[in-house]
Amino acid sequence: MRDVIEGFLTFQQEIYPNRLELFKKLAEAQSPKALFISCSDSRVVLEMLTQQGPGDLFVIRNAGNIVPPYGPEPGGVTATVEYAVAALHVTDIVVMGHSNCGAMKAIAAGQPLDNMPAVSHWLRYSDSAKAVNEAREYGSADEKLNALVHDNVYAQIANLKTHPTVALALDQGQLDLHGWVYDIEAGVIDALDGPSRTFVPLAENTKVSALSTKLG
Ligand code: ZN
Repeated sequence: MRDVIEGFLTFQQEIYPNRLELFKKLAEAQSPKALFISCSDSRVVLEMLTQQGPGDLFVIRNAGNIVPPYGPEPGGVTATVEYAVAALHVTDIVVMGHSNCGAMKAIAAGQPLDNMPAVSHWLRYSDSAKAVNEAREYGSADEKLNALVHDNVYAQIANLKTHPTVALALDQGQLDLHGWVYDIEAGVIDALDGPSRTFVPLAENTKVSALSTKLG
């Protein structure tokens, strides 16, 4: 923890004074460019990966970059999506999975989670990805895990579309959805191409959207 506090002191003494104008502006309001829904994993550093700064990204992070479908008992993820779309009017939502994801590993390996009942319950929101993933053949456990990470991003994009604010913004042409998978070792991102339902390298397909049609 000492490193973390020393890091803050460096920020306070060296970074903050040099960017006073920015923080003065941000103290009044925010207008983020996108909502990111990513995994809590410490290796996924969104601002570093996308070279964005304070005020640029609105972020939800949880185990497995999961978006529960909209329902009668909305929770924190649902409330945050609603706020981002209805109040902040974000124009883009990115669901981002990553390689070597612990949550996806637990599902792919059928790991018993008896000592983690909350995790076990939470991962049920990936059941559709699990069903699709388990019906296919794989050459190795790594291949199966990698496929599940992609299947899960696809499933969470589908869950996202059940949220009324998202459905409305899509219908009005004010929102685009993106499904990304970040490979930690290779430093690359694959992006979901909605119409073909395949993942393609983001570097060569910068305009790709997870939507299959203009309306979702
Ligand atoms: Zn993860």
